[in-house]
Amino acid sequence: MQARPGRLNPGQRRALAEMGIDVWVPAVPAPAVAAPPVGSDWQALQHAVSNCHACGLAATRTQTVFGVGDTNARWLIIGEAPGAEEDRQGEPFVGRAGQLLNEMLSAAGLAREQVFIANILKCRPPANRDPGAEEVAACAVHLQCQIELLRPRLILAVGRIAAQSLLQTTTPVGRLRGRVHDYAPAGLPLVVTYHPAYLLRSPGQKRRAWEDLCLARQTVAPLAA
Ligand code: SF4
Repeated sequence: MQARPGRLNPGQRRALAEMGIDVWVPAVPAPAVAAPPVGSDWQALQHAVSNCHACGLAATRTQTVFGVGDTNARWLIIGEAPGAEEDRQGEPFVGRAGQLLNEMLSAAGLAREQVFIANILKCRPPANRDPGAEEVAACAVHLQCQIELLRPRLILAVGRIAAQSLLQTTTPVGRLRGRVHDYAPAGLPLVVTYHPAYLLRSPGQKRRAWEDLCLARQTVAPLAA
C-alpha cells in the first residue's frame, strides 16, 4: 500500500518513520454518538480487582494492573499480563514495548489516551513466565466485566497469549492475524496482531503489524457510521 501524504499529520508521519513504514490508509471518522460513561460499576470492578486473591499470583504481585485509557474508547487493546515494570507502575504496556505500542497507535491516528488497554491477567506472573491456564480462568471474569462495561467497537488482541486465550485456540498468532474474528462472548470483532515485545525482537514483522492495524481501522470505520 502506498503512502497518502495529504492525510498524514506530523505525529503520524513521525510514528510511521520510527516504525520504518511508509504506508497509510484513510482516517477513521469521529463517532457520531459517544458511549455513556461506565459509572459506579467501573469503580466497583476496580475495587474488586485490586483486592482479588482468586489465584496464586496475588501472593507475588506488587499491585494489580487493572488497565488504562478512555472508558468510552472504540478500541480495546488486550495484552498478556503485567511484566516487571507494569507490576511496579501499575499500568499496562510501559517501557520499550509500551513505547512501540504507542507509536503503532499513533501511526494509526490514535493516541494512547483514546483507547483502553488491559491484559488477560491483572497480576504479574513471576519471572515473566507464561500465564497458567488456571490463572487465566480465574482472572477471566475481570476482563469479561471490563468488556461488558466498556462496550468497545473492536478488540485488538496483542500477542499469542491474548489471542489464544480470547479465541480459545492453540493456533499460532501468524495464522490468526490477517482476518477479523468474532469474539463470541460479546459479539465483537476481534483482530490479532503481534506483541510489541516480539516486534522489538523481530522488527521485520512490523509491516505485518501495520497491516493488522489497517485491518482494525477498516473494521471499526463502518461500525462508527
Ligand atoms: S491474576 Fe487475576 S485472578 Fe489472579 S489474583 Fe490477580 S486479579 Fe485475581
